[in-house]
Amino acid sequence: MPENCRVCGKPLEQPETGRKRLYCGVACRRKQEAALDRIRAALAHVEGMIARYQAHPSAWGARTLPLLEPKRDRLARELARLTG
Ligand SMILES: [Zn+2]
Repeated sequence: MPENCRVCGKPLEQPETGRKRLYCGVACRRKQEAALDRIRAALAHVEGMIARYQAHPSAWGARTLPLLEPKRDRLARELARLTG
């Protein structure tokens, strides 16, 4: 279980009961939410492009897909890391 703020790494005091805290305060939670929104939007964009190129094969798609797929995987991993 995380004992430090996911954003700034500051040690957290966990409550004895109830939901455990992930962030030290509102500022870090907001920051995390903004980062998640950015990654989710980027991921949706890349996934949309991949789907389009796969649905309509083209020379350009064939050249671009090998670049898009690692990008999508990287974003998906980043998202998984942040959401835990
Ligand atoms: Zn923090």
